Amino acid sequence: VILRWRRDLIAGPHPDDDRRVLVFCERTGEHFELPDYGYRIGSSFDGSRTVEEVAARASELAGRDVDPEAVGPFVARLLELGLLDEDRSPSLRPPADAGPQWSVVQEIPSDVPIWVHPDAGYECRCAGTCCSAGYVVSLDEREVECLRAVAPSILGPGADPICVLPRGQGARWTYALANDPECPFLGKDRRCAIHGSDALPSTCRVYPLAFVSTGRRVHASVTHRCVCGALDRGPRLSAQMASLRSKLDASRFLPVIARSTRVDAYTRIGSPAAVDALTGATADWRDSAWETLLCAIRAVRDQIVEVDVGAEPLAPAAIFSAIAERVHGEELTVAHALARRSHPNRAAILDSLRRADLSRPNEPPHEEAARLARDYLSGLRIYRFSTLAAGFLALGLALACVTSAPEQPTAREQAMLWEDALLSPGLRALLGPEGPIAAITASVAGVERQIEALRAAFPDSGIGLP
Ligand code: SF4
Ligand code: SF4
Repeated sequence: VILRWRRDLIAGPHPDDDRRVLVFCERTGEHFELPDYGYRIGSSFDGSRTVEEVAARASELAGRDVDPEAVGPFVARLLELGLLDEDRSPSLRPPADAGPQWSVVQEIPSDVPIWVHPDAGYECRCAGTCCSAGYVVSLDEREVECLRAVAPSILGPGADPICVLPRGQGARWTYALANDPECPFLGKDRRCAIHGSDALPSTCRVYPLAFVSTGRRVHASVTHRCVCGALDRGPRLSAQMASLRSKLDASRFLPVIARSTRVDAYTRIGSPAAVDALTGATADWRDSAWETLLCAIRAVRDQIVEVDVGAEPLAPAAIFSAIAERVHGEELTVAHALARRSHPNRAAILDSLRRADLSRPNEPPHEEAARLARDYLSGLRIYRFSTLAAGFLALGLALACVTSAPEQPTAREQAMLWEDALLSPGLRALLGPEGPIAAITASVAGVERQIEALRAAFPDSGIGLP
């Protein structure tokens, strides 16, 4: 029998014990704990080794003496737990992820200015969606200690507000706030019991702002995962600089883009020129989200000697299904986004919008799309993708879904869903050089043709393809 350790399982060492490996199955939400040697044996089933071969090599794989006779029952147990699969067809394997166009530093610069889009505004309406399941509030050791110290007086004796969560394949698991279904510190009045105190975790302090550094300045933007913050309802960000600086200072990590930017598979430009093109395109963002996106693409194309491999655009419905076919079944958000389904947390989002008195914003979907395009491009969140071409296409797919949402609050919910999808390494891999539409994302000219086709099918106003 040829077996394979399931590629979608997320495994990593326990945060404070390398001898224990934690394994998370997104499909069922189950956690498993294995001794590290058990994990090494289990994960050595790569689709080519037989049980006998693994048993013969068990001691070598485990780095300790293992009785080969014990491997059979151990494998049976892994099968019973659903951790091993029969090999999948090579054509349906998820593509490899080429990584973002930034590196992450832990030192937060105090002397670099913060840049914000002049029209972006922000106000927290205490909707509290961000304090419930689906939002990971990761914690470092100091934060775990602080929260455990304050928990008994707020939550009662013996209460532990901490859990452990996976971060990515092979990465050490992280401590996080146990917020399923809701953070224990969220009061009945939807206010945070530790807001303003030293115990408030850095993620909560910074949320929903995103910071990306160019080295010369730090771009701050509001993420559209936030139910109410991304609606431009509050004061302009430019009037909230002191608060932004304290959020930036509270950040534990800062993404810094490289000096040169990969435009597509063939071309690069200096990052200052790319950043100017991206932010410049958002100056007239109210005109249309599609116009903003196309303007950014043309501004970048104007600066390169381009190689156009001539890929023809796919029909809009075909491009969604070509990508969706290769989505990992467990990439729930990406699967929902590409299938143009509702957000998996739709009920909670609509409830939050009602509670924050935002359930009838009476606003056409294309305005939601326009803000999303503005913040994604000028906030430099596009650098999460391996090339600008892939990042442009990702935004095009998002705009198709948001602009064709029938009405608010569905467009709000779609923007939140897509903001999650745009954060996913899974979507990045699907749009990358090993993905199913690599011929289109290989050149920025091919992406522009694809965006034009999407725009024709999903115009700014009116419903697009079913
Ligand atoms: S969703 Fe955003 S704006 Fe709303 S309560 Fe949470 S942080 Fe505040
Ligand atoms: S600590 Fe406060 S802000 Fe953070 S998730 Fe809990 S209730 Fe929300």
